[in-house]
Amino acid sequence: MTANATRVLVLNSGSSSVKYQLLDMGSGTRLAVGLVERIGEETSRLSHTPLATGGDKRETEGPIADHDAALKAVAAELAADGLGLDSPELAAIGHRVVHGGLKFTAPTVIDDAVLKEIERLVPVAPLHNPANLTGIRTAQALRPDLPQVAVFDTAFHTTMPEYAARYAIDVETADAHRIRRYGFHGTSHAYVSRKTAALLGKDPSEVNVIVLHLGNGASASAVAGGRCVDTSMGLTPLEGLVMGTRSGDIDPAVTFHLRRVAGMSTDEIDVLLNKKSGLVGLCGDNDMREIRRRIDEGDERAELAFDIYIHRLKKYIGAYTAVLGRVDAVAFTAGVGENAAPVREAALAGLEELGMAVDASRNAVRSDEPRLISPDSARVAVAVVPTDEELEIAQQTYALVNA
Ligand code: AMP
Repeated sequence: MTANATRVLVLNSGSSSVKYQLLDMGSGTRLAVGLVERIGEETSRLSHTPLATGGDKRETEGPIADHDAALKAVAAELAADGLGLDSPELAAIGHRVVHGGLKFTAPTVIDDAVLKEIERLVPVAPLHNPANLTGIRTAQALRPDLPQVAVFDTAFHTTMPEYAARYAIDVETADAHRIRRYGFHGTSHAYVSRKTAALLGKDPSEVNVIVLHLGNGASASAVAGGRCVDTSMGLTPLEGLVMGTRSGDIDPAVTFHLRRVAGMSTDEIDVLLNKKSGLVGLCGDNDMREIRRRIDEGDERAELAFDIYIHRLKKYIGAYTAVLGRVDAVAFTAGVGENAAPVREAALAGLEELGMAVDASRNAVRSDEPRLISPDSARVAVAVVPTDEELEIAQQTYALVNA
């Protein structure tokens, strides 16, 4: 790596999409952001915003056959802005990898053994790891000389104690199939818990934080002194909170019932619980803005969906208060957590006995900055902390290649 190589390209490769950001770690600026969608279809779309030049967002539509073509198209867009991937200023490529199992507890420079291990984890992350692997291999082909770093969604949660990570099922069966609670959104939980400590003017080691990552996917975590001690997602991102389209916690016997009584196949149940449940299953909408609008118009289904969502959230806040013993802060993040003031207000309503409260006027403020929304008198700080998974991936990647 050359001395002035300070750029990191962050790639988040999904099955039919690639999200990317190019960051300069020297100046701490974002040079370009973009997204390729519907890869493999006739109507693929690339949207690219060259932040470095202050140019407008550019959108191109037309077939992009595969990830290789997608990444080449991204490289061409970047080159057009003088930010080509062949630049000696590019230090590394950081990849979001969803499942790192137990082996990957930290960001890792990718070699053949790492690729093999990510592949070995495909059975526990069948939707995500194959796409992440494709993204890595494509990027490796494009710049074989460059360090490629995997940053795992599960890594932050590997500090969970065994009693929080293990399901109460037969140990041999669980171990034979690597069934345990891994947790996800770890990059966000790590970033937000650290930022929350900074907002309080403390070192992460001094504070206990409940992080509520409420996006279309949603998860809660209990972070004690900077280490995750419990999180709501499990073997897969299906467990825990009510989400946009996922059920979250459910009696596992519901699945037997759906097979035996409703005659559904395993795949159909998978689709039901992952894609047709949660808010969308309850009221037909998964966008919190739309749900709030319907509630304002008196829609009872939307109101019930909201109440179920909040009830689950409240149960996790209570549970993690008990797990942590002392809570210094509750931090809301991601699309819903950062934007939906009614969700924050309802989630903490009635929790004054736990030292938690929301100040209505602070809660109503919209901002991209981390901020406190609790009254000054509250024992527990309630914060809104915008997450930035790409920045966290870039920082971890850059730190590793400079170590
Ligand atoms: P994420 O997965 O973090 O991108 O979050 C996406 C979700 O955030 C959407 O499905 C909406 O439910 C929610 N969201 C985004 N903007 C707002 C907003 N202004 N008010 C309420 N909810 C929002």
